[in-house]
Amino acid sequence: MRYFFSFLRRYLPPYKSKVVVTFLCNIASAIFSVMSVALLIPILEIIFQQDSEVTTLMPFSIDGDMSKAAVNNFYYYVTYIKLTYGAGFALLFSGIFMIIATMLKCGMAYAASYSNVGLRNNMVRDIRREIFAKIVSLPVGFFSNERKGDIMQRATGDVAEVEGSVMSSLDMFLKNPVLIIVYIVSMAIMSPQLTIFAFILLPVAGSLIGRVGKSLKRQSREGQEKMGVLLGILEETIGGLRVVKAFNAEKHIVSHYSDETQSYCNIAKRLSRRRDLAHPMSEFLGTIVVIIVVWFGGTLILNGDGSLTVAKFLAFLGIFYQIINPAKNFSTAFYNIQKGMAAMERIDKILLADDHIFENANGKPIKQLQNCIEYRNVTFSYNGEIDVLKNVSLTVPKGKMIALVGQSGSGKSTFVDLLPRFWDITQGEILIDGVNIKDYRLHDLRGLMGNVNQDALLFNDTIYNNIAFGISNATQEDVERAARIANAHEFILAQPEGYQTNVGDRGSKLSGGQRQRISIARAVLRNPEILILDEATSALDTESERLVQDALEKLLVGRTSLVIAHRLSTIRNADLICVFHEGQIVETGTHDELVALGGYYKKLHDMQAL
Ligand code: ADP
Ligand code: MG
Repeated sequence: MRYFFSFLRRYLPPYKSKVVVTFLCNIASAIFSVMSVALLIPILEIIFQQDSEVTTLMPFSIDGDMSKAAVNNFYYYVTYIKLTYGAGFALLFSGIFMIIATMLKCGMAYAASYSNVGLRNNMVRDIRREIFAKIVSLPVGFFSNERKGDIMQRATGDVAEVEGSVMSSLDMFLKNPVLIIVYIVSMAIMSPQLTIFAFILLPVAGSLIGRVGKSLKRQSREGQEKMGVLLGILEETIGGLRVVKAFNAEKHIVSHYSDETQSYCNIAKRLSRRRDLAHPMSEFLGTIVVIIVVWFGGTLILNGDGSLTVAKFLAFLGIFYQIINPAKNFSTAFYNIQKGMAAMERIDKILLADDHIFENANGKPIKQLQNCIEYRNVTFSYNGEIDVLKNVSLTVPKGKMIALVGQSGSGKSTFVDLLPRFWDITQGEILIDGVNIKDYRLHDLRGLMGNVNQDALLFNDTIYNNIAFGISNATQEDVERAARIANAHEFILAQPEGYQTNVGDRGSKLSGGQRQRISIARAVLRNPEILILDEATSALDTESERLVQDALEKLLVGRTSLVIAHRLSTIRNADLICVFHEGQIVETGTHDELVALGGYYKKLHDMQAL
């Protein structure tokens, strides 16, 4: 429960006023509810019993007992109407009061839930926003250790679970206690003896019900985790449907999915059955309690001193009956909170995750590269065990094109990913103009660079928005100019809706070369100082490679660039070529120098010449 209160402290404060409104409406509703039942007493007494008729008005006075006077005078008017117009009319008259009281009770209850809805939805919206912002800010590395489906489940299903929990808790703290207290007080006024008796019984029943909820939290967490697995399979399958079909793996994957759904189904059944047990159990125990109370109250009337009348007893039962619901809700709320907090713990795995990439609070601004980028004795490991880069040093002077070559897995992509701080290095340092990149503002640092990768990542949006991505003040002319430089303008115009054509999920409606040219246009528009190309053409056929290569050459003019190349022909005129081998730079030089050297580069070169 302590976790739950800290949760409320985190998300409730902005909505204090709503809490107060809900609370006040609930009090009002409870009072009207008691009134509507209590009005039964005079009706029953006066109309069916001669001796409770009141024939004199009592004056209201400040020092006198006002409530006594009010009760007396109400009795007086009912008696008056009964004697003048008959008992039937008096019944109707009192009925109108009951209707009004009930109307006020229901109206107030609605007002309370109206404000409650705002509270709950706002809180949940805040959590959703927080999760998304956190997902965006977490380093890329966080997600290689997590299942994507599980993350999605946390951002959706778990949030819904928390919503249920919040809703219950508001009931639990803002409504049920109010109702219960008001009911108990009014019951105590009617008959203290009976009230004490009833409330010895209730906790006994309550603790029996409470047992049901014990393992609910653990089971709920299992359920959410399983749901994450399901979402993961779904997501991967939709994304990789081509592979699934190409390898005739439909049957395999369907049976895998159906196994997982079965195990989710089992958990969900266990969970629901346990939770549903609460309802019939409390109803059954509630009935037993009511019957015992009726028996006890009956004997009080039959053998009593006359302090408890039949009319009062009926009203007492009316209120007692009303108390059962909030008492029952109290126990359901308790379960729901347990479930919700299990979900919140999972969400907190994201929200409270370490950012790893620490932004220097007094980071220096940087708008331009003045001099050079320098990697100094850089060692890096993804998992803390195997060094993917070993003591690598390299200087990239401003305006030069540096090419990185080497076999797959030699650490080239890792090397360039360190520059925008997608990962932070383990040892050594990376400097821009002599200052460690950790001492710059992260936003500025990344603003210096443009990226074009092997798989052009497009969003499911229009071509225009994909090119202008992240730039809010781009004009149509800017976007078109960028597209022309990227050799994309013509094919974009040929699309059904030109720049406003939607590219489909991950750009699937376009060919690989077209996607790549759009991602180049995106880089052109940003006009970055430093350009990082990671095998930008390796996924393309020769025809589109030529177009993309041409676009890239235009993009490279006058920029500082790190170019990872798969085909050596594309980097022939680089200012410097670095050959990577098992996490180290083993050769550097120009094309001609390296060929003359006759080492790794020569070997790669000869292989491709074949
Ligand atoms: P290249 O781009 O030269 O083909 P990479 O830099 O992508 O090579 O990979 C270098 C090594 O780092 C590989 O052995 C690869 O398995 C490992 N690696 C790459 N990315 C990750 C990651 N996110 N987590 C752990 N290991 C990784
Ligand atoms: Mg790579």
